[in-house]
Amino acid sequence: MAKETDQMQKIVSLCKRRGFVFQSSEIYGGLRSAYDYGPLGVELKRNIMNAWWRDMVQSREDVVGLDASIIMHPRVWEASGHLAGFSDPLVDCRVCKERFRADHATPATEGQDLVLTFADKARAKAAQELIKTQFGVELEAHGKELKGAKAGNRGYVCPVCNSPFLSEERQFNLMFRSSIGPVDAMTEVAQAIERGELAGLQGNALRAKLDELTKDSAVYLRPETAQAMFVQFMNIQQSMSMKVPFGIAQQGKSFRNEITVEHFIFRSCEFEQMEMEFFCEPGTDDEWMDYWKDFRLNWWKKFTNHPENFRLRAHDQAELAHYAKACYDVEYLYPWGWGELEGIANRTDYDLQKHAKYSGQKLEYFDPTAQKKYTPYVIEPSAGATRGLLVMLIDAYNEETLENGETRVVLKLHPALAPIKVAVLPLVKKDGMPEKAREVVNAFLAHGINARYDEQQTIGRRYRRHDEIGTPWCLTIDGQTLQDGTITIRDRDTMEQQRISIDTAVQEIESRLRKI
Ligand code: ATP
Repeated sequence: MAKETDQMQKIVSLCKRRGFVFQSSEIYGGLRSAYDYGPLGVELKRNIMNAWWRDMVQSREDVVGLDASIIMHPRVWEASGHLAGFSDPLVDCRVCKERFRADHATPATEGQDLVLTFADKARAKAAQELIKTQFGVELEAHGKELKGAKAGNRGYVCPVCNSPFLSEERQFNLMFRSSIGPVDAMTEVAQAIERGELAGLQGNALRAKLDELTKDSAVYLRPETAQAMFVQFMNIQQSMSMKVPFGIAQQGKSFRNEITVEHFIFRSCEFEQMEMEFFCEPGTDDEWMDYWKDFRLNWWKKFTNHPENFRLRAHDQAELAHYAKACYDVEYLYPWGWGELEGIANRTDYDLQKHAKYSGQKLEYFDPTAQKKYTPYVIEPSAGATRGLLVMLIDAYNEETLENGETRVVLKLHPALAPIKVAVLPLVKKDGMPEKAREVVNAFLAHGINARYDEQQTIGRRYRRHDEIGTPWCLTIDGQTLQDGTITIRDRDTMEQQRISIDTAVQEIESRLRKI
């Protein structure tokens, strides 16, 4: 895995320290490819997903929701092409042993001079020896670098050490396979071995036999939420009398057996997506594509402090999936460079046509006004919710030097996304202040605003703690509160404090939240 930048290391550590994201099964040594969202992480994730649901479904008449099962009929994945094609060619570097996806390699043109780079001089020496003995190529060593190698005709070299000494590309299916029903795949295979049916079989013949034995019980964890929207197109269109153009949206878990899990939660094997299939009449698809790509870019920008770190990138012809007419990525400038946050694709009528063919059912729309039938085209904005959470954390993370020379870490999360909206702090743990503070917390909770009582440590430390988890406002109960019924409200970003009446505190926060 690539070494994380300083900023990422700080964010990963903050996530653990403050209860945003933990390594899955940490007490057993952790599972590299899976993460658990702690008390603050789950709030942040829900706030992102709820904001998406509100803006994409609840506040529109032309989009409806769906919550489909994760395990679908295996034919769905045959029809969608995932079973055959949802695989990335994998390559091993023969020198540094890195395993990587061919599309993640470092591009290199044939004959290009290469500088192979290693962690230290000793490793470079060992690599020099290995290359000489295994490939008969002599390279010059310069400290931790080896010079003299040239790129071959693969179009790429190892993304870690730049070596052109690579294995062949191998196909690898990214879908997690399981079995359904009383006899699991292992049992079927064991029984076949006992019957002697596998004796003498090797390679592809063995693989084909195993596939045949297990195909009736094989099921897959969905690698995207999208296919259910195509499969349920007719049910939804008819039950809701939807008129094209309209969209079907879904959020939920997806699973991919990713070989390269990287950059913390950026790429993991279990993640959450927020996807929408927007069905429109062929011929209107280009216009809808324009609409949705801008809508989605602006949606992300609404929550950010740095809009310049978001951009749209059009896929060129070579990069486009074979069924897509056009595709844009909403990209974010991560600490390691620009990368995908969301894809918006014009999938044409590919999916509906495929499912119609494989299921034998008609998946068409009858336009009552024009009195004609057609298969709608589809524009698909497909975003990662967990990747979005990472983007929001990176965007919000700030270190500021205060007048007294101390550094304050502050997460400048958009208040609508902040896990805790208000912290209520009694200045001291006596003189009736804790009781008053509890009353204020209860008033917020009764209005559905996530407020937390906090009396641990000095007031300064409590402010820092809430700055670090992105709480936009701290309300402090002090001696004056007990005399004149006012409290201070401190703004996370400006650190300015203002006195307001305790009776209007809930109203004040409600109106600030409404304004954003
Ligand atoms: P990438 O090129 O990064 O692998 P992709 O093009 O395969 O992504 P899509 O299939 O378009 O991704 O999925 C839509 C969105 O789902 C992505 O933009 C991303 O936000 C999210 N996503 C995809 N794979 C993962 C993963 N393994 N972990 C976390 N989020 C993911």
